[in-house]
Amino acid sequence: MAKPILLSVDDDADVLRAIERDLRSQYGADYRVLGSGSPEGALDLLKQLKLRSDSVALLLADQRMPRIDGVHFLQEAMHIYPEAKRALLTAYADTTAAIGAINEASIHYFFMKPWDPPTEHLYPQLDDLLGDWQASYHPAYSGIRVLGTRWSPRAYELRDFLARNHVPYQWIDVEISASDPETKLLLETLGPEATSLPIVLFPDGAKLLESTPAQVAQKVGLRTRAQTNFYDLAIIGGGPAGLAAAVYGASEGLHTVMVEREAPGGQAGMSSRIENYLGFPAGLSGGDLARRAVVQAQRFGVEIIAAEASGIRTEGPYRIIKLADGSEFSCHALMIATGVQWRRLDAPGIDRLQGAGVYYGGGATEAISCAGETVYVVGGANSAGQAAMNFAKHAEKVYILVRGSSLSSTMSQYLIDQIKETPKIQVWAHASVAEVHGETHLEEISVLCSDTSKIERVPASAVFIFIGALPQTDWLAGVVERDERGFLLTGPDLVADGQRPKGWTLERDPFLLETNVPGIFAVGDVRHGSVKRVASGVGEGSVAVQFIHQYLSKVQ
Ligand SMILES: Cc1cc2nc3c(=O)[nH]c(=O)nc-3n(C[C@H](O)[C@H](O)[C@H](O)COP(=O)(O)OP(=O)(O)OC[C@H]3O[C@@H](n4cnc5c(N)ncnc54)[C@H](O)[C@@H]3O)c2cc1C
Repeated sequence: MAKPILLSVDDDADVLRAIERDLRSQYGADYRVLGSGSPEGALDLLKQLKLRSDSVALLLADQRMPRIDGVHFLQEAMHIYPEAKRALLTAYADTTAAIGAINEASIHYFFMKPWDPPTEHLYPQLDDLLGDWQASYHPAYSGIRVLGTRWSPRAYELRDFLARNHVPYQWIDVEISASDPETKLLLETLGPEATSLPIVLFPDGAKLLESTPAQVAQKVGLRTRAQTNFYDLAIIGGGPAGLAAAVYGASEGLHTVMVEREAPGGQAGMSSRIENYLGFPAGLSGGDLARRAVVQAQRFGVEIIAAEASGIRTEGPYRIIKLADGSEFSCHALMIATGVQWRRLDAPGIDRLQGAGVYYGGGATEAISCAGETVYVVGGANSAGQAAMNFAKHAEKVYILVRGSSLSSTMSQYLIDQIKETPKIQVWAHASVAEVHGETHLEEISVLCSDTSKIERVPASAVFIFIGALPQTDWLAGVVERDERGFLLTGPDLVADGQRPKGWTLERDPFLLETNVPGIFAVGDVRHGSVKRVASGVGEGSVAVQFIHQYLSKVQ
């Protein structure tokens, strides 16, 4: 953690140098000593320090300075750092003014120039002041801070991105904490920029206004571009299937890169508790699984890029991947592990309020914000059940809306049992969302009850939608063969009546997990006919690496 600061201000360069020297020799081990030649410069500096979350222990200002005298400087500075000890440096002639300032401007002490020897005229008094300051000092949060409002979709996207990438941050809801003195101060210091939400403040003093996940990714050191032009194996998608392929590929000596557009972990990363993954009898959270897998992959040297793949093409033995920022790199073997994305719910108001009370999937970030509120989970599959269990830890009431008469045909029995034993959760059968309402954020929903054909309008703080998922594979169209719903065809699915896929020139059939393009593989949920489970994705990702070795052994 950065040391607290002692700031002295004097327009006389010799005096400033002398006071800085004396402060540094006595306090340099515990404090950073800074100096400024003008009160205006010092006020600017204090604002910068505030945005960086630095602590200031002492402000020591000369009384006689042009434009702004010491007392007025200290009064101004008090608004920025109210807890800092404030002291004046005065000439004998200014003693009366200094004594008056002790009361008027809440100044803690005044020192007479010259202060020689400092062991008598400076340090004992400063020891007292700094001792007092230390006694009530609570180190400020020194990591990344995100300022925004709860109902802002952009702020939600950013927080979700940081949380899922395991980047620690402090969330400051500028509406909810508007009366908090620290927040007020921060907003005042930002001035007109305070309206450019969401704002991300970094410990080094940098700030991003109206910031996006891509900008933050770059700033926190997540790689957004490939480091080299060529890899043995490139994996698109960092869910369980992609991560498993990365770990196996790199551990077996392949120079491997993995491209992930949101956060490693994929859908599994959103799961609050995976109960059926082998070897974890008490279950484990998807976030934990993802974090461990990322560490494992990095240990084997996998390069992970935070970016979106937007196109591919082939040039002889090379598979070339284009990223959304326009950059390209190539590889010999390419693995598509892009999983599936939530299906959109078609009801009036849904698109408008997405991210402002309407969410696809159950962001861990949102669960905590729902404390004491009534929330709705739409869908009857395991993902919806897990999310309901997670929200029940925080929300006052959780309704699960299902079209059918019960959960029994769509959800695992262990989850149905858990839900039954959780009084906060209520299953609302024969129910679907007809419309959502609210101006700036969700306030109510209209529920169509198919058994009575009536519509009920009820208050709702948040709706979480889990109504099945489809692959997003349009960017592969024309290169990789897909089924009518966009899932990728592999292996035996490509060979009909003994006929190999169109354009296939090799003297062998496509390998089990290989697409119609030699060297391009598809694994996990994105693959036609896959079993939509963590273990099967992991299995496919690992097995595919064996076929990749076989493929690479023949590639020219
Ligand atoms: C809430 C929830 C709970 C679940 N619980 C369980 C459970 O308890 N047990 C179980 O076995 N299964 C569970 N599942 C299912 C399981 O999570 C999935 O089957 C598994 O995650 C599929 O893995 P995948 O790697 O194929 O794809 P995904 O997990 O979908 O990962 C695909 C990744 O690819 C990325 N991506 C997509 N397109 C691009 C692109 N163009 N460029 C770069 N990156 C891209 C995505 O951002 C995503 O991270 C659950 C799913 C959900 C949503």
